[in-house]
Amino acid sequence: MSKPNFKIGIGYDLHRLEENRNLVIGGVKIPYEKGLLGHSDADVLVHAIIDSLLGAIALPDIGTLFPDTDEKYKGANSIELLKKVYKMVKEKGFSIVNLDSNIIAQAPKMMPYIPKMKEVLSSVLELEIENISIKAKTKEHLDSVGEKRAIEAQAVVMVYKS
Ligand code: ZN
Repeated sequence: MSKPNFKIGIGYDLHRLEENRNLVIGGVKIPYEKGLLGHSDADVLVHAIIDSLLGAIALPDIGTLFPDTDEKYKGANSIELLKKVYKMVKEKGFSIVNLDSNIIAQAPKMMPYIPKMKEVLSSVLELEIENISIKAKTKEHLDSVGEKRAIEAQAVVMVYKS
């Protein structure tokens, strides 16, 4: 049975906030007293986007593709991982229709950095700015995110094969 050439993918990620780490979200370095903890640069938004892309084309998730036991990915720039995954999407014959996402953080304020994040993602994903949405939410001081101990991100992406 032939199906329409559209596919949708969902991604989610969370990283802990710790001292002596850089805070990198959406490929943008954000000045803050803490940063996200992880094997790579722990870019929570980019990781959620990577998983949404992999989900859309039904490939194994980010942890399977880039295992945190692999020294190669220690301190990895997540934008470089995103480039690899986008290449896999293209190799399957797909391109991206649009991307919607949420960054859930009690602090710092994400708003000032969102235009730059969109620019970075637009160039990596060959996607027009008007097809990229990044929303910033807080957790009303509840849970680990609300207590500034972690930051979460969610992403949905639609891809199509022409
Ligand atoms: Zn992650």
